[in-house]
Amino acid sequence: MAKISSRIEKGKKSSFLQLKNLTKTYETRTGSVSALDDVSFDVSEMQFISILGPSGCGKSTLLFLISGLTPPTKGEIILKGTHIKGPPGGIGMVFQSSILFPWRNVWGNIMYSAQLCKIPAAKAEKKASELLRLTGLAGFEEKYPHELSGGMQQRVSICRALIVEPPLLLMDEPFGALDALTRDKLNLEIQDIWANIKTTILFVTHNIQEAVTLGDRVIVLSPRPARIVEDLKIELPRPRTLKGRATKKFQNYCTHLYKSIGLT
Ligand code: ADP
Repeated sequence: MAKISSRIEKGKKSSFLQLKNLTKTYETRTGSVSALDDVSFDVSEMQFISILGPSGCGKSTLLFLISGLTPPTKGEIILKGTHIKGPPGGIGMVFQSSILFPWRNVWGNIMYSAQLCKIPAAKAEKKASELLRLTGLAGFEEKYPHELSGGMQQRVSICRALIVEPPLLLMDEPFGALDALTRDKLNLEIQDIWANIKTTILFVTHNIQEAVTLGDRVIVLSPRPARIVEDLKIELPRPRTLKGRATKKFQNYCTHLYKSIGLT
């Protein structure tokens, strides 16, 4: 693995997102919980970053800090040159659970997000139709969440996040609750969507294959409190395919990451 052992991308010219010495300690009734310890990395615009770490290590905390929903205990987050001090707008989020409004149909759920952000109706409708087509949901506009499979619900929540054209999309184990085949399919779909809409994605997962399939880089976090163990550049051609997982190079990355995360 010598060829892929120099990992940390340093000092990119115009970083889109900069995380500097991020530390987060939660104060709870039973004492302090240190979730994140001195995490620093830069992200270039349009990159797809996989964030890999064991359960409970602090991955969601990292995304919450970037979203501005939770302040860091120490450190700075700079998005497009501006310090994030609270929810900055322009950041989309997709969670493990689709969290759709059960009383709104697919179209209504997606358009709600556009209305909140005051996107003109005609523009939002055009964008919603495009996203529904990209995610294979065209024709399902009138369906309600309970009439959709888990994978379809998650596609709706992706459309809902993307309709506002966020320059940054944070995805927190978005496919973690889906069966393995649907997950594989959505891995390919999110890659297509990303290629089409051209946004920057931070994608949290604890699945090594998923992280390698999707990422331009895989940032490996330690068990809690999360620290960066490795920042691994994935130099596989795109579009990545499921067949590509059988290649030696893909498997070398996975073997390396298993070691890095402490599983071999
Ligand atoms: P992951 O996403 O990697 O599973 P989290 O970021 O959700 O990990 O959690 C990291 C640690 O921080 C866990 O020990 C969790 O219990 C704790 N934690 C997360 N959110 C809070 C909170 N709001 N208050 C107190 N502790 C929290």
